[in-house]
Amino acid sequence: KPFEVHVQAEPLARLEQELDGAGWNALRAHAQATRARMAGRTFWNISSTARGGGVAEMLPRLIGYARGMGVDARWLVLTGTPGFFHITKRLHHALHGSPGDGSALGAAEHACYDEVLRDNAEELLVLVKPGDVVVLHDPQTAGLGPALASAGARVVWRCHVGRDTPNAEVERGWAFLAPGLAAARLTVFSRAAYVPPQCADRALVIPPSIDILAVKNQPMAPEVARAILAVTGLLHGPPDTAAPVFTRTDGVMGCVSRGADVIRLGAGPAADLPLVVQVSRWDPLKDPAGVLLGFAQLLRQSPQLRAQLVLAGPAVTSVADDPDAAQTLQDVIALWRQQSRFVRQRVQLVCLPMADSEENAAIVNALQRHAAVVVQKSLQEGFGLTITEAMWKARPVVASAVGGLQDQVIHGENGLLVRDPGDRKEFAEAVRSLLEDPERAVLLGRRAHDFVRTRYTAPRHLTDFARLLERLDA
Ligand code: UDP
Repeated sequence: KPFEVHVQAEPLARLEQELDGAGWNALRAHAQATRARMAGRTFWNISSTARGGGVAEMLPRLIGYARGMGVDARWLVLTGTPGFFHITKRLHHALHGSPGDGSALGAAEHACYDEVLRDNAEELLVLVKPGDVVVLHDPQTAGLGPALASAGARVVWRCHVGRDTPNAEVERGWAFLAPGLAAARLTVFSRAAYVPPQCADRALVIPPSIDILAVKNQPMAPEVARAILAVTGLLHGPPDTAAPVFTRTDGVMGCVSRGADVIRLGAGPAADLPLVVQVSRWDPLKDPAGVLLGFAQLLRQSPQLRAQLVLAGPAVTSVADDPDAAQTLQDVIALWRQQSRFVRQRVQLVCLPMADSEENAAIVNALQRHAAVVVQKSLQEGFGLTITEAMWKARPVVASAVGGLQDQVIHGENGLLVRDPGDRKEFAEAVRSLLEDPERAVLLGRRAHDFVRTRYTAPRHLTDFARLLERLDA
């Protein structure tokens, strides 16, 4: 059965501080038009997991602001069988151009996919009324389109993944999804390059965004970041005086507890060395193995370098639609065990607690803020919110030149791009150059912050949504 995740309204006025007078007036005008347009109708968003990954990160924030505008925006999460999520993970890889585990996407898989979505649709049709707008997120939900459209809902499909240069796998993925997508009036992609021919006549490009007021991105003093990392055992030494506190969405103070269930591999760093950080789901396309090997190569070449690596991801049992995570983590752990003692001591593999999503966000915030360099060495990447988050925090970043990372990072200007995502040497060099040139790192970080402010924050995203609804009514 699909279930609803209740989202509190966020007053739109919170965004006023992000904008100049003209920007704020424009946003308010869009909000007013959207409220009028959606009067008496519901704006549904349906995704496949309530926790972990970029969609689960972004949706509650945007829905909160939409509710704050007076729109009845709501979030539903579908449920599925392990077989279903295996197929949808396979599809996720296919749209990134990768064969995943190479399993089939044939008639049997279609039958399983359709059956799970038929069961979900039955429940959804009780809730969704004619005229409602339903945004379906990613391949997991695409097959819900026909049932919802025939009940009179206006269906939009939003795809958060993609590949710059389609290959046979990508086409296989699109062929699988075609019957579902036929029912979508509009489709939304993070980059123009991701739009498949079958959607070209009804596609909008809307990149994701971060909420700079969310727990993950809210201002945090360096001592507080240190304290959070010290109590969770991610940094050496006792926490100093500052309490590991953050402000929850409801305004109440939260505190990262000593008992926060961080699973850490390794004895922990022997000294307080600068952090190189990658925060990602345990997915081969995020290339955690490549980050580990690239960092090991860096240490071999420059044994004097003061640096340690933290590879952090969610506790593996917690992301419902990501069944391969445990295996990917096991593979990284095996690789870590093969490294020299010196490298092992400089690398922490960390599973972050997910039970309290705001505590998790506070730990990620602290990690990103405390990092000397944030990396995202993805082999494919739809957009890469982790890099947006780090750039907002004025961190110098090293990212692979793939997918949406290329839209965000301008090489040498606001961060560094690694041209060949598979080239560990180029990656190691880029990280080293930032660690060895703090002045340049500060400059890149400052520009990164400004870049994110203008392009990838909530006001821009909400404006794009207002335009989407306008187009849907046209
Ligand atoms: N994230 C998190 N905890 C983790 C790992 C990831 O909160 O342990 C968040 C991360 O901060 C970001 C999102 O999950 O907000 C990942 O989004 P991204 O677009 O980078 O990748 P996706 O997972 O959607 O492929």
